[in-house]
Amino acid sequence: MSPNSENDVVDKVNGDLNGDSETKNGHIDDHGPLSVPEPDYKLVLKWRNILAFIYLHAFTIVSFFYPPVCLSTYIYQFFLAVFIGFGTTAGSHRLFTHRSYRAKPLLRWFIIYLQTLAGQEPIYRWVRDHRVHHKFTDTNADPHNSKRGFFFSHMGWLCCKKHPDVYKYGKKIDMSDLDDDKVIQFQRKIYTPATFFCSLILPTLITMAMGEHWWPSWNFNVARYTIGLHLVWLVNSGAHYWGKRPYEKNISASDSYIVATLALGEGWHNYHHVYPWDYKTAESTRYWFNPTLLFIDVAAKLGLATDLKVASDEMIRARVLRTGDGSHKYSKQALIDAENPLDNNNYDCTMDHLWGFGDKAMTETDMKNIVIHNREVD
Ligand SMILES: [Zn+2]
Ligand SMILES: [Zn+2]
Repeated sequence: MSPNSENDVVDKVNGDLNGDSETKNGHIDDHGPLSVPEPDYKLVLKWRNILAFIYLHAFTIVSFFYPPVCLSTYIYQFFLAVFIGFGTTAGSHRLFTHRSYRAKPLLRWFIIYLQTLAGQEPIYRWVRDHRVHHKFTDTNADPHNSKRGFFFSHMGWLCCKKHPDVYKYGKKIDMSDLDDDKVIQFQRKIYTPATFFCSLILPTLITMAMGEHWWPSWNFNVARYTIGLHLVWLVNSGAHYWGKRPYEKNISASDSYIVATLALGEGWHNYHHVYPWDYKTAESTRYWFNPTLLFIDVAAKLGLATDLKVASDEMIRARVLRTGDGSHKYSKQALIDAENPLDNNNYDCTMDHLWGFGDKAMTETDMKNIVIHNREVD
């Protein structure tokens, strides 16, 4: 499903948000970046990435013809894939980008290690790209702008140089929390050799040590890595095309069961774009469709995760009735219940794009209504 029919509204929202000067409320008030590249925009390919992707996909196919023979290889690679996934979903995404909870040093280091195994980008760059995506969704400043097509938002954006607006508007994103973080900056410095060793060499050596031949060890690890990349990329592509928009019908981000199931619970993307600071990234608390939630809840039970932020039922109800697409149970009930007509909604909810907890555009009403579990006493 294309989000293009909603361009006008999204353009207006972005136009209100993006620009060079900020008002006292944190709103930015010039016209902001365009939704699609200008006619004279020149796309510059990144051949190093393209060749790497060709290699990864070729050897993924090879792994189907020469599969591993040891059961231990499959078991090890499965659990490796899941925990590496948590490094991205619970780590780069929910913790570092959106600040939806706080982690004790032990959990932070574990997550940083898992994220290094993931072989994507250093946390600092990952966070900057993702905050820009949330703040300037579906504009030229969005690194994987879904208005440029499914393939572009999936992996095409990694095959070419970023649009100049990504850099221009990226400079407006607050990164002060990570600028001074010595561990994050250290990971940034050593990332390329560290992630090459941790994500490709080390798992191959481990499965060889468990008795697997080096050839299927290498190929199967490449396949696990490549498939893992596609599952993460689906959040930028599939979750901006497939599914319903119960909370905000004027954005492309959608709630997708398929993406949620494949991406450890990151597919409730319509909810997530409206409440990026909610550590569940979903209204539901069902672990089956959100394994990352289980990971964070277990960490909280162990005392390693605190300040888990959640949208209150009142906030959700107000937003659903104001801007939902009608698929939420509250929308359906409101149509039946004459006492709750859809236009009788005075709750002052945030209507801006937010990058996460601490974004200056959050309203006072929302700040007051955020529920914080497991609050840490300072
Ligand atoms: Zn998104
Ligand atoms: Zn996000």
